[in-house]
Amino acid sequence: MLSHKSESVKVLIRCRPFNQKEIINHSIKCIDIQQLDNKNHQCIIKLISPKRYRRRISRLFRFDSFYDENHRTEHIFQDFVQSLVCDVTLNGYSGTVFAYGQTGSGKSWTMTGCLCHSENGLISNAIEHVFHLIHHHQSNNEQEKEFTIKCAYLEIYNEELHDLLLPRTSLKSSSRLELRENPRSSGVHITNLTWKNIYTIEECLKLKRLGDLARTMGSTQMNRDSSRSHTMFSLSIQYQHNSQTKIFRQGKLNFVDLAGSERQIKTGASGQQLLESAKINLSLSALNKVISSLVQTNTTHIPYRDSKLTRLLQDSIGGTTKTIMIACISPSEDNYDETLCTLRYASRTK
Ligand code: ADP
Repeated sequence: MLSHKSESVKVLIRCRPFNQKEIINHSIKCIDIQQLDNKNHQCIIKLISPKRYRRRISRLFRFDSFYDENHRTEHIFQDFVQSLVCDVTLNGYSGTVFAYGQTGSGKSWTMTGCLCHSENGLISNAIEHVFHLIHHHQSNNEQEKEFTIKCAYLEIYNEELHDLLLPRTSLKSSSRLELRENPRSSGVHITNLTWKNIYTIEECLKLKRLGDLARTMGSTQMNRDSSRSHTMFSLSIQYQHNSQTKIFRQGKLNFVDLAGSERQIKTGASGQQLLESAKINLSLSALNKVISSLVQTNTTHIPYRDSKLTRLLQDSIGGTTKTIMIACISPSEDNYDETLCTLRYASRTK
C-alpha cells in the first residue's frame, strides 16, 4: 500500500463502465472503493480476486482519486487538470498528464473523448481553458501580455519518433524525428518537430484530429496496431509583458496516451510483435522508474536516458513541473490480472 505522497505527482484511477460483452456475459465486478476524504478525493481501492482462483485475496491500494461510470472526464479535468492548465498558461510552468492501462481500458476516451457520446476529452477541455484564461486575463489586466500558443503532436513506435502534424503521404521515413541533447538546457531537443501556431480552439482541435488520422493511416500502411505506440500532444504557451521590463515565460503541457500495457503472454504475440512489446515494456518501466525516483527525496540519479519517452520528457517531468498519472482499468473480473498489474504500476509511481 502507498505510504507517502508527493504534491508534484498525482495518481488517479479511472474505471470504465462494463462494456456490451461484459454485460451479456454477466461479468462480475472486482473493484470496491472506500472514499477516505471527500475534500481531498483520497481513496482506497479494494481489488478482489475472482472466485475461480484457489485463494480469494483482497488487495488494497491507496490513490489520490477514483473515477467510475458515474463520472465524466470533465470531473477529472475540474479536480486535477484545470489548475495545472492555469499554471502552464499564466505562470510558465510545465506539466504532463499520462493515461496508462491495458488496451480497451479507456485511455483514449479520457484523453481524446468521444464525439458520438458528446464526451470531451482532457485535451479539448485543456485547449478551451487555455483560450478562456487568456481572454479573461487580457480583458482584466491593464499590464497587457502578448501570448503565443503552439501545439505539436508526435508518436513513439518501436522507440522511433514520428511527427503527426507533418503533411505527408507515408509515415515510413518522412516523419522520423531525432532527439538531440539541448546544449542550452538540461533537456533534449526534438529536431524538426512541427510546432503549429494556433489562434482558435477549433484550429487546435482540427490539428489534433488530423494527427489522429495520420496515426491511423500510418498504422494501416505499416500493418500494425495503433495501441502499440505512445502518443504525445503538447501545448506550448509563451507570453511577453508589453512593459518596459520585458518578462518572457514559457509553459508546456503534454498529454501522453501510453501504449497498451497488456502482457504479451496473454495476447500470444510472436516475432515482430514480441520485439514491439519488449520495447513498450522497456519504456513503460523506464517511465515508472523515473516518476518513482522523482518522488523519493533521497534519489539523486533520475534514469531519464533509459527510453525515448523519458528522454523527451526530461524537461516536463521532475523539478518544478507537475505530473498527473491516470491509470485506466476495467471493472470486470475477466480482466483481474491486468487490473492488478495496472494498480501495482500506478502505486509504484508514488
Ligand atoms: P484504450 O484507449 O485504453 O484502448 P478506449 O478509450 O478506446 O480504450 O476505450 C475502449 C472503449 O471503452 C471505448 O470505445 C468506449 O466504448 C468504452 N469506454 C472507455 N472508457 C469509457 C468511459 N469512461 N465511459 C464510457 N465508455 C467508456
